[in-house]
Amino acid sequence: MATEIKPEHFRPPIWNDWCPGCGDFGILSAMYQAFAELKLKPLDLVVVSGIGCSGKTPHYINAGGVHTLHGRALPFAQGIKIANPNLTVVVNVGDGDLLGIGSAHFVAMGRRNIDIVVIMHNNTVYGLTKGQASPTLRLGEQPKSLPKPNIQSAVNPIALALASGYTFVARGYAARVPHLKELIKQAILHKGSAFIDVLQPCVTFDNIHTYDYYNKRVYDVQEEDKWDPVADTPEKRWEKLKGALQYAYADGERIPIGVFYVDKTVPPFEERLLSRMPKYLEAPPALQKIEENGAPAI
Ligand code: SF4
Repeated sequence: MATEIKPEHFRPPIWNDWCPGCGDFGILSAMYQAFAELKLKPLDLVVVSGIGCSGKTPHYINAGGVHTLHGRALPFAQGIKIANPNLTVVVNVGDGDLLGIGSAHFVAMGRRNIDIVVIMHNNTVYGLTKGQASPTLRLGEQPKSLPKPNIQSAVNPIALALASGYTFVARGYAARVPHLKELIKQAILHKGSAFIDVLQPCVTFDNIHTYDYYNKRVYDVQEEDKWDPVADTPEKRWEKLKGALQYAYADGERIPIGVFYVDKTVPPFEERLLSRMPKYLEAPPALQKIEENGAPAI
């Protein structure tokens, strides 16, 4: 009889050394729940990370995982997905890792529309190295580790994802775990490059973007605005992109979360490869062997 997959199947019995209260715990919890509700098997899942507090995520998930180099999680993830397109590949990266040193890879993956989910832990600082300004910290803001206000402007991650070609673009909040879980499920089910910008309070180094700050501001665009993000014809793309960009640049007292953009008109990279290499999706010998012998029990 098949084992029922539960969130705890994905939780390994190891010590978690994130700071107590860190928003990363909400993201991890949403991932466990999403994986279980989608009935993913740990053997069919790979979690890839870069460097930073978020880089520890694969250690805390009972599945395949690779803790890679600074800014290089996406090339590793794409290699894994192309080598075995049957895997579900999820990337956990910080805003510094993804939009600083890894920004070129972020843009390149959007252009490919390869079927991978990128979850960005957006806490506006480099938490692992004591709270320096990250690319999402706005001009003039001064979290407690900075001796002077930030002298640089922020990157807008949602706008950059849209401009790069991501076909699923959303924002979640680490303290709204059920909502974030649904975003992660939708992103995994989407065929193409998916990006979720997760507002993730760093309780140790960011004394500006706290839970209190976000709790007063975030609202769900599907619930309140009844926003339909889906472009299922080329004609609808511009209308949906315009709406998504408005959410990307909404600032101040109200911060939108939810699914901003879903483009169903662009074929995923795997389909493009298949059209050039008809045998591409045939299982490689190692995978055939696992399938013949039966996968180990979870
Ligand atoms: Fe979380 Fe910040 Fe602590 Fe890192 S330093 S674990 S982001 S609270």
